[in-house]
Amino acid sequence: MRHLDEYRDPALILQQAEAIRAACTRRWTLMEVCGGQTHAILRHGLDDLLADTVELLHGPGCPVCVTPTETLDQAVLLTRRREVMLCTFGDMLRVPGALGDLNAARAAGGDVRVIYSPLDAVALAREHPQREVVLLAVGFETTAPAAAITVLQAEALGLSNLSLLVSHSLVPPAMEALLTDPAHRIQGFLAAGHVCTVEGAAAYQAIAEHFRVPIVVTGFEPVDLLAGIRACVEQLERDEARVENRYDRAARDDGNAAARDAVSRVFEPVEREWRGMGRLPASGLGLRPAYAGFDAVARFGIASPATGADGPCIAGEVLRGLRRPTDCPAFGRECTPNTPLGAPMVSSEGACAAYLHYRGGA
Ligand code: SF4
Repeated sequence: MRHLDEYRDPALILQQAEAIRAACTRRWTLMEVCGGQTHAILRHGLDDLLADTVELLHGPGCPVCVTPTETLDQAVLLTRRREVMLCTFGDMLRVPGALGDLNAARAAGGDVRVIYSPLDAVALAREHPQREVVLLAVGFETTAPAAAITVLQAEALGLSNLSLLVSHSLVPPAMEALLTDPAHRIQGFLAAGHVCTVEGAAAYQAIAEHFRVPIVVTGFEPVDLLAGIRACVEQLERDEARVENRYDRAARDDGNAAARDAVSRVFEPVEREWRGMGRLPASGLGLRPAYAGFDAVARFGIASPATGADGPCIAGEVLRGLRRPTDCPAFGRECTPNTPLGAPMVSSEGACAAYLHYRGGA
């Protein structure tokens, strides 16, 4: 398939792997911060291919996985309101929270709708003026523009029956938090190309400079990933630490100004809880005061339920790259895609799901 085959060309893959091997005088440890990249690495066996020269750690790059239990529980509480129609991406349905998951909430009579774009919530609000449509707005910088445009459209249409349960997260503050953890082993980052299509590669410049760590923006196909890994290890070998864009066919250094403008009109940076990482300053997006009327938590007076421990799930350590899914005693035993104990086993971008799918169970 054109525009795909050339990025999966076996000869190019082997050539890139050989170039990486030739560039390395030692073994380097890199982290990707994108669940799509994690799955591509496992799917194409890039970690095994480079095992002698590069160790790949998987970071908090799955938006579903980092969504805090508190948000899920608030969503479940909303489904108990008879007037509420909760709209969510399908990935969120089976993520376990302290109050169960949204699938169970739906089975218990809650009105939970799976949508494919945040803008579907606008259409539902128009079709069902007698219902209160709530959009569960989760995701990184990539999905925030669509959530912002949803609010702007609802405002323009004068829709009073649409609100948002917002749990958008921002990647750079999480990278900073990882680098300030004394236990971290990260020597270079692969940054997600699609995040940079919005924010621009320059968004990582301050981190690269402050922490003296190379950050290479890359794509999602094996040739893309290997090109990013090669650029990263070449910087490390030269003792450089800068942002490099190896996904310039899609991501520009300055990103997408229109998307960023929509986001900054509607949202502002707020402290956000990350599952497994705690509360990180300015790591999330919240509605600006001008759009506070769209806040579902305030509109319905939803409390923040107390969250319990994650049981045997070590997702927090997995998301920080400190342990691998296969280190979890529940991996492939008690925890499977049919019986998930944590979000990384449910989400299509979760590391545990990737290991189980591509490497098999216990
Ligand atoms: S295998 Fe399951 S229980 Fe273990 S860390 Fe992953 S999601 Fe959590």
